[in-house]
Amino acid sequence: MKITIAIDGYSSTGKSTVAKQLAEWLEYIYVDTGAMYRAVTLYAMRKGYISDGFFDKESLIAKLDDIEITFVKNTATAKAEVCLNAENVEREIRTLEVSSFVSPVATVSEVRAKLVEQQQKMGDTKGVVMDGRDIGTVVFPNAELKIFMTASAEERAQRRYQELLDRGDTVDYKAVLANVVERDEIDTTREDSPLVKAADAIEIDNTETNVEDQFHTILQLAKDRIAGRV
Ligand code: C5P
Repeated sequence: MKITIAIDGYSSTGKSTVAKQLAEWLEYIYVDTGAMYRAVTLYAMRKGYISDGFFDKESLIAKLDDIEITFVKNTATAKAEVCLNAENVEREIRTLEVSSFVSPVATVSEVRAKLVEQQQKMGDTKGVVMDGRDIGTVVFPNAELKIFMTASAEERAQRRYQELLDRGDTVDYKAVLANVVERDEIDTTREDSPLVKAADAIEIDNTETNVEDQFHTILQLAKDRIAGRV
């Protein structure tokens, strides 16, 4: 039996790392829903709908039908990468600038409705691992396994800071920490689909856990669900 695995949690808790590992091991589809919100944000930035202290929501909403988000497999890494209207934007969507505008964009109900519909279609055959903020609560409330990931803001900022440095970006740790804290605040307090732990989600705090141990814990939970043991 194939199941649906929903992984939600705060920014930079390593959701995508564990989701990718699980999908690879189980031969499931992996969907990074944060990448979809980031791609819509990049579109809004390029059109001039969002910049520092300015967000023209109405123009973005009016153009939503012109935005097509897809995923392609990078043949070298075998990882899925996100495309905005057929252009691979995987690298551009990971900048601190996109990170600073994505949470306001993700508060817009029309944006959420469009992306949630697409996410539900991608997962309707099961055998999917999806990570985000509202997967266990809104996208797949009936998912067989729901994980809710947390870690301290400082630890998460340190991980994101290192990732940005590793790819050659010039960044300041304090700016990364401020962004992590700001996104937590917007994501947990927005009206539509706020980030909240589903009642039946299993919470995992990985401030002090290494990636391998965490993977094995979650893989065991998945195997139990697949075998119908719980
Ligand atoms: O997962 P990632 O950090 O790339 O997500 C970027 C942002 O997209 C989040 O901070 C949140 O504002 C938004 N998001 C969301 N719902 C999802 C996934 C991401 O609102 N399912």
